[in-house]
Amino acid sequence: MDAAKQFDTVIIGGGIAGMTAAVYLARANHSCVVLESNITGGLCNSTYTVENFPSYTDINGMELMQKVRDQVDALGVPVEEVCEITSLELNGDTKRVHTDEGVYEAPTIILATGRKPLPLEVPTPSDQVHHCAICDGAPYKGKRVLVVGGGNSAFDESLYLMQLGVAHLTLVEVMPRFFAAEKTQDQLMAYKNVRTMKETRVHDLVVEHNVLTGAVLENTQTGARETIPVDGVFVFLGQLPNSRLFAHSITLDKQGYVLADANMQTNIPGVFSAGDINAKTFRQLTTAAADGTIASLMADRFLRR
Ligand SMILES: Cc1cc2nc3c(=O)[nH]c(=O)nc-3n(C[C@H](O)[C@H](O)[C@H](O)COP(=O)(O)OP(=O)(O)OC[C@H]3O[C@@H](n4cnc5c(N)ncnc54)[C@H](O)[C@@H]3O)c2cc1C
Repeated sequence: MDAAKQFDTVIIGGGIAGMTAAVYLARANHSCVVLESNITGGLCNSTYTVENFPSYTDINGMELMQKVRDQVDALGVPVEEVCEITSLELNGDTKRVHTDEGVYEAPTIILATGRKPLPLEVPTPSDQVHHCAICDGAPYKGKRVLVVGGGNSAFDESLYLMQLGVAHLTLVEVMPRFFAAEKTQDQLMAYKNVRTMKETRVHDLVVEHNVLTGAVLENTQTGARETIPVDGVFVFLGQLPNSRLFAHSITLDKQGYVLADANMQTNIPGVFSAGDINAKTFRQLTTAAADGTIASLMADRFLRR
């Protein structure tokens, strides 16, 4: 068996929080590694346009994350993508991260695993149900799509789908109002081939011979149902924390978010957490980057102690 790879800090999660921590640690001459279960970039990869990150008036989310990744690479930080972490040993002076690629050891760990989209609450046996228009929208040019959710993500991603040239888009929200910014709502509703419906939920999906052909929509007030033809469904119902891996050892709140203090310190000395995985009020790129900064500076202080 290969010997464990040793670092000052192992960073789990390669979104903006994890990559910012890597930049700070590398610049402080600490050895660190970023372990990412997918590709680096995190949730921002599925954001069409970012208009509130200081430096660019507007920039595509994936492009912005590539710039952060370039900075991490330029500093020589190793990044392991598509890396499956099987277990963690967080207690003790040396923490161990067991992965399908081997074992990583370090005195400090930064948890930056973010969140993942909530699924639709009906059986979704089809690969035509998605959570990211940028990733999966292209095949729907000239087709009919259903968007589920009425927040900023749903409206923003719907605008992207319209720009791709979908033939018709229906957006449904279960509540009596939409929660997206007024400007974004207006932009979407200006399209003639867009229909928006409040107080409406997806009762079922129609799948024929393993192909999604429609959706059964239900008015939550009257119970009236309507079946509409759709070729694809995009679901934007919110997010769930990616904390299952360390739920047994790290103190979490009821929703599964990490209860870290203002210095990103968790209940275990030497284990810090940063970004959307933390219990907090605002989850933005800037707040995640700030958390990554604080976690890495605290790790630096811990290492020098
Ligand atoms: C549709 C959408 C639009 C948004 N638009 C904006 C915007 O315009 N401006 C803005 O400021 N914010 C925006 N946000 C919020 C912003 O994307 C997040 O606040 C930010 O990405 C959080 O960064 P993070 O690094 O904490 O988490 P994430 O970006 O979620 O990154 C976490 C990373 O950890 C990885 N990971 C998870 N589990 C494991 C594991 N077990 N092992 C290894 N790796 C793991 C994930 O694959 C992921 O790459 C948007 C979010 C969404 C969903």
